[in-house]
Amino acid sequence: MKTTTSTSQTNYSNPVSKFYCNIFGHQYDVSKLVTKHVKEYTCKCCKKQLTTNGNGHLTELTPTFQEINSILEYIHTRRKTRLKQKMYSTTAA
Ligand SMILES: [Zn+2]
Repeated sequence: MKTTTSTSQTNYSNPVSKFYCNIFGHQYDVSKLVTKHVKEYTCKCCKKQLTTNGNGHLTELTPTFQEINSILEYIHTRRKTRLKQKMYSTTAA
């Protein structure tokens, strides 16, 4: 007779990943390029998201920052398009 002690307490959201991040640090990957200076990062391990704030420091990607980034991205894309047109017309110079 074998007594299998199957505990249903494996309900944690991958504690190993968190443990790993705590020791070795997060494995951030650029998940989105908002502007030249602002990027969004996602940890490959625990899926924690960061972004660059106005001071150039990394901060947690909150809904507020997501909103700011989408506005920044919009402005940046527009500016880039305009710059490209300008460059195109002045390449001869
Ligand atoms: Zn992590």
